[in-house]
Amino acid sequence: MVLLAEDSPTVRALVRVELEDAGYAVVEAADGRVAVDLARQSAPSVVLLDVEMPVLDGYGVIAELKVDPATRDVPVVILTGQADLVKALDAGAHDFVRKPPQQGELRARVAAAVRVKVLQDELRARADELERVSRTDHLTGLHNRRHIEEHLRRLRSGARRHGYPLAVLVIDVDHFKQVNDTLGHAGGDEVLIEVARRLGATVRREDLVGRWGGEEFIVLAPHTDLPAAAALGERLRMAVGGTPVLGGGRALTVTISVGAAAGDGDDDLVVQADRHLYAAKAAGRDRVEADATV
Ligand code: GH3
Ligand code: MG
Ligand code: MG
Ligand code: MG
Repeated sequence: MVLLAEDSPTVRALVRVELEDAGYAVVEAADGRVAVDLARQSAPSVVLLDVEMPVLDGYGVIAELKVDPATRDVPVVILTGQADLVKALDAGAHDFVRKPPQQGELRARVAAAVRVKVLQDELRARADELERVSRTDHLTGLHNRRHIEEHLRRLRSGARRHGYPLAVLVIDVDHFKQVNDTLGHAGGDEVLIEVARRLGATVRREDLVGRWGGEEFIVLAPHTDLPAAAALGERLRMAVGGTPVLGGGRALTVTISVGAAAGDGDDDLVVQADRHLYAAKAAGRDRVEADATV
């Protein structure tokens, strides 16, 4: 779809006919303010933009489109009599067409701008997908360690700045080597996927669950003090160990040990939680340890 921003009804009618003949849907704006609003609402492939317009001129329109992430990448083709082309191109216009346009020139320039837009959208989608994959654990679909570490940094500075408590729970599946021995590696993978699902289904929306590596998981829980973290650990323990898990065509009860720690953004909560996890293992597994003195 092409957004045509032009205050002259005559020029609008001429341009619309040529673009519609070339197969484009056309949406019209008669001033710059309406053009910006329509660009935000209708995500056009190209904006064909007159410079001299009431309310907001073409330069103003470009400036507004370029600061909004939703419209920043839409190519702008300036439709101009004798406007300052250098100024328009410097402001971020993609191309220009002189008025009155030569036969065929308008559609050729619009088509070129659309090609740029399509390529740009593909690159953006590919970059977004790469970004997502680089932060996702491929087995369980949970966030991976890289994402968790970055998120923890953000949460720590938020906790420091605003003075709220932050909890970290480190979770390790008990005797997972035996699970693999019993079910085979593929069966063990199925168990890990189901454990991950149960952990994810148990936490609050604002908590983050990730796979730390192997059969270890981690939960980041903002606005959570130590008693609440211990209670969350207990819910997670029940969610995993409470009913058997299917793996390798068999049902088997799998338990977890949980180390919890809470504090402000200054504490190294992962190290503390890890220490508590170790204590939970030493105390017999299938339990939550949150005592800061351990
Ligand atoms: P503990 O109760 O002390 O934690 O005993 P454990 O057997 O769970 O301890 P350990 O950490 O020694 O063993 C973890 C095992 O998890 C070893 C490793 O082969 C297995 N493992 C790690 N990643 C994966 C995975 O992605 N898939 C499967 N199937 N197994 C994995
Ligand atoms: Mg005009
Ligand atoms: Mg382990
Ligand atoms: Mg283990």
